Order: sequence, then structure tokens, then C-alpha cells
Amino acid sequence: MKITSAQFIKGIRGTDDILEQDVPHVAFIGRSNVGKSSSINALLGRNKLVKSSGTPGKTREINFFLINKELFFVDLPGYGYAKLGKVDREQLRKLINWYLFDSGVEDRTVVVVIDIKAGITEHDEEVILAMTNAGMSFIILANKIDKLNQKEKKEAFDKLGEYGVPVIPFSAVKKRGVKEFYQALLA
Ligand code: GDP
Repeated sequence: MKITSAQFIKGIRGTDDILEQDVPHVAFIGRSNVGKSSSINALLGRNKLVKSSGTPGKTREINFFLINKELFFVDLPGYGYAKLGKVDREQLRKLINWYLFDSGVEDRTVVVVIDIKAGITEHDEEVILAMTNAGMSFIILANKIDKLNQKEKKEAFDKLGEYGVPVIPFSAVKKRGVKEFYQALLA
């Protein structure tokens, strides 16, 4: 897919008119620091459109980007951010769960971004299980493949295969897997 335009529209913290728009969502979720913002920027061929969860003062919102005037890339707050207190973390969890399960959005593809070196963590597992139980499909973007050697890659991807969903080997840093992502998205 050729990216001709990508612009930030708004951040939301709950129900909002933008959810009523007849525009499909591609929603990115993942643990903080997996490289979610780097991955979205790489997919869009932009350097700094999406801000890292490590950026001081980054709002704890669900951010909407309009791509090619035809779909939204939806950047959810990263979960499991170590520097957040318990109350903030719980608020984030609620926000993410609301968007995934209660916001009424139907035309949507969910992309779970993971750090392939760390593998699927307990937090990822929780989200994946909840989506599976709700009958939702998703794809896994396995970021940071540049950190693994051949043998580690094989082991990691064999494991991910058990989830029975499309898994895209990806590196935001090396810009690997962009084409494969869009192929999976359009499939
Ligand atoms: P976010 O918190 O998930 O949005 O993560 P960021 O995009 O801010 O990335 C977190 C850290 O991981 C940064 O130091 C990035 O440079 C690094 N990172 C992101 N993508 C990759 C990748 O593909 N390979 C490697 N080696 N590091 C990456």
C-alpha cells in the first residue's frame, strides 16, 4: 500500500464522534517499549508522526491518524509502562478494554505489536486471551527481529505459530516487513 497522506486527527479518552465515522480502523496495541510508535512510523514511512510512549508528557489517549483519507491508524496507549502508578495503569487498562470490547467499532483490524526478543509477556497474554474469548481476530507484528539470530528467530516464530493467527516478522529500525504487513492487512 502506498502511503500518500498521514495526519494526526485527535486523541480520545472515551466515547467520541470519531467512532461514528464510516472509516475502518487498524488498531495497534502493545506493551510500552515494544517499539509500537517506531513500527507505526515505519509502516507510514514517517519519522516522528507517532510519539513514543517514553516521550515525557505523552497523553494517555487513544490517538487517531487518518491514512490516505480512507482509514484510521489507531494508536492505543502502551500497557505495562513501568513508570506509571497503579491507578494510572488501571485507568489505561480500562481505556484499552473499552476501545477493544465496548466502543462498538466493527470494521477493524487489531495489530498486537510485540518485542520478539522478549516474546509474548504476561500482559500480552492477557490481552490476547481476552480477544480470543471475545471471538476477535488479530494479527501479531513481531518487532525487533534485527535483535535475533537465525536460530533464535526460528524458535521464536515456532512458538508464535501456536497462536494460529498471522505473524509478521518486523523491524522498525531496519524497515523490514512493511510490505508483508500490508499484504496481511489486505488479505
Ligand atoms: P513504544 O513505547 O512501544 O512506542 O516504543 P518506541 O517506538 O518508543 O521504541 C522503544 C525502544 O525500542 C526505542 O529505544 C527504539 O529505538 C527501540 N526499537 C523500536 N523498534 C526497534 C527495532 O525494530 N529494532 C530494535 N533493535 N530496536 C527497536
